Amino acid sequence: MSASDDCLFCKIIAGQIPSSKVYEDDTTYAFKDINPKAKVHVLVVPKEHYANAAELAAKDPAELAHIVSVAQRIADDSFHGAYRLVFNTGLDAGQTVFHVHAHVLTGEKLDE
Ligand code: 5GP
Ligand code: ZN
Repeated sequence: MSASDDCLFCKIIAGQIPSSKVYEDDTTYAFKDINPKAKVHVLVVPKEHYANAAELAAKDPAELAHIVSVAQRIADDSFHGAYRLVFNTGLDAGQTVFHVHAHVLTGEKLDE
């Protein structure tokens, strides 16, 4: 069994669990968070399974840069390019899904 067999986001990427797609290309998938913390709250994930941002940065830095550019595009479309980008990393930081995902929070003025 690979790390991804039991992964919620791998199942969402594969279409085995429904999601509200915002963007997709060959390497990257973006979908609405089920429990939004802002007017627009999108999760941007690599289609390959990596546990967290540091692992992605080490193994595929171009994909990490691409995720940032996808986040920028979502914010350009929804709130004149202003957004917050969050990678929760580790249980004690609130990471609950261990497939790296960028939280893109935008669509409205955010609290500081
Ligand atoms: P984390 O806490 O790991 O940084 O973020 C996981 C995020 O995934 C949470 O914001 C949570 O609301 C979201 N989430 C959990 N399960 C699902 C699901 O089945 N579908 C979608 N669209 N989002 C989910
Ligand atoms: Zn996964």
